[in-house]
Amino acid sequence: MCGISAIASHKLVSHKLLMTLQNLEYRGYDSCGMALFNDNKITLRKNIGTVDEVNSLERFEGMEGTLGIAHTRWATHGGVTKENSHPHFSNNEEFVIVHNGIISNYQQIQSNLKDKGYRFYSETDTEVFSNLLEEEYSKTKDVETAFCDAIEKLEGSFAIAMITIHQPDTIFAVKKDSPLVIGINDGVNYVSSDINAFISETRDTIILDDYDYVLIKNDDYEIKNLKTRQKVSKQIVQVQWDRQTAQMGGFSHYMLKEIFDQPMTVRNALNIPAAQIESIAEKFITRKQSFCVGVGTTYYVAMVGTYLFSEYADLYVPSISADEYPSLIPCSHDDHVLFFSQSGETYDTRMAIRAAKSKGAATSAVVNVVGSSISQEVDDCIFQGSGPEICVVSTKAAVSQIIILWQIALEVGVLRNKLSRKAADSFKDKFNEFSETIERVLNEESGNIRNLAKETSHIANWLFMGKGIYYPIALESALKMKEVTYLHAEGLPAGFLKHGTLAMVDENMYSLFFLPFKDDSDLYKSTLMSIEEVKARNGKVIGFCSEEDHEISKLLDHALYIPRGNPELTPLIQLIIAQLFSYYSALNLGLNIDKPRNLAKSVTVG
Ligand code: GLU
Repeated sequence: MCGISAIASHKLVSHKLLMTLQNLEYRGYDSCGMALFNDNKITLRKNIGTVDEVNSLERFEGMEGTLGIAHTRWATHGGVTKENSHPHFSNNEEFVIVHNGIISNYQQIQSNLKDKGYRFYSETDTEVFSNLLEEEYSKTKDVETAFCDAIEKLEGSFAIAMITIHQPDTIFAVKKDSPLVIGINDGVNYVSSDINAFISETRDTIILDDYDYVLIKNDDYEIKNLKTRQKVSKQIVQVQWDRQTAQMGGFSHYMLKEIFDQPMTVRNALNIPAAQIESIAEKFITRKQSFCVGVGTTYYVAMVGTYLFSEYADLYVPSISADEYPSLIPCSHDDHVLFFSQSGETYDTRMAIRAAKSKGAATSAVVNVVGSSISQEVDDCIFQGSGPEICVVSTKAAVSQIIILWQIALEVGVLRNKLSRKAADSFKDKFNEFSETIERVLNEESGNIRNLAKETSHIANWLFMGKGIYYPIALESALKMKEVTYLHAEGLPAGFLKHGTLAMVDENMYSLFFLPFKDDSDLYKSTLMSIEEVKARNGKVIGFCSEEDHEISKLLDHALYIPRGNPELTPLIQLIIAQLFSYYSALNLGLNIDKPRNLAKSVTVG
């Protein structure tokens, strides 16, 4: 999920398209390409590498035409190869497309199209759409109808731009769950996944909503709704961002942008094809014992897994920190180990994979980077499709991994007959609502969290506590706090407190409690006991609770109210609020949030 760009102009566009690709480079990518309409046909050039590398090989600037599309790819389906790079032609080369996101039902569409004689030249999910367009066009001979009918067959997340020889003055574009904006200028119109692509040319922008599709010409544009196929009017916004802010999507730091990306990345994680989830789930059934392994944030992701497998599949799946794994190597050839890594290059995790393989264990992984070492070393790999995470500390990648783990745990529950298929499917609906809840919480709570951070950023010592699944959430939140603020935050199980750490509590010690809703009564009551223990020693307590819970809000020095929603997903909402809290605390301290001292994004050394 990287960048798309398209331009309709009255002049040659290749140099401008190249500029937009360069402006999208900051998003991270592995390959890029461009397609232009000229002289009754479409020319296409693409390759792997940086924009400059590909340009020197493919000479984009030499391409002629006044209408074109371009793409920077962050692979989700299929390796980093020239064939998999975008744009993608239809078989008859009459349609060409670029796509960001994941088409989750691509296998089914592909097999229908193969039955009709279509051939596929890439391993991407994207290529189905160009052939689907060709197929739909053969029925109606109307480009707009074909475009809409084809889009209606897609599931998943997408921002797509398309040009065709059948309507050579128009760019067609559409979005669902992936960003897309229009830039309007005199005689040149732009469509891109990001304002930054064209900000040096125009500041007049229209932000599109899901299911909006657009027809863009050099001197005109029309926005329509996919469901009604009627015109919709949208306001032109004058963007006043500077270039740096534009690169961060209007946010002051990548960390904040990536926290706010989460409604979208959660949806992407939910769009991972079911067959991939099932393939890993089966290993939990066929193998004697499974383990979850990660390091740093991904270790806490793995720990969340331990609780999920216990809850939904009645299965004990120990989690182990990758750096300790070689000292234990607890597996044998009957077993299975599921690894987590954002970059897919983490040294400690690679060593753990090597150790597990030396014992003959089956291995699988969830990673964010296609073609990375880990993805090649394991037997089975899911690419989470969260897009590049530029801030050194992980936010959106970790939450997506948890969402994927959740789906695996539900599937294992079904396979073990601990959960009905119906119950597992109804969870899918809860997840779909969840991305809207995240959006709402982020928009509504940011101000409160910012204020709280202002009041507390002088506090040098924190205890972050929770019980059950809230325990790894507390650990990950404490890690986030340490990483970006350099303040001491200790994560621990709430029940562990009285067995030692309570000795440290006095009026200067602040505690953040990850507290379930009252209906989760056992966990709630036992966490409440730990809160009472802190209060009895004059410690300060901040805690999560629902607005209706008057009893607890009286006890807390500061209540972080969260919407009722689905109680099962409450831990993740709290994790996201804690990410914001760390961010605003670091902001208040004036620290280098996106590049904290002593840390690197991808720890490739031992
Ligand atoms: N899923 C598509 C692919 O893997 C698009 C990836 C992107 O958004 O860059 O090619």
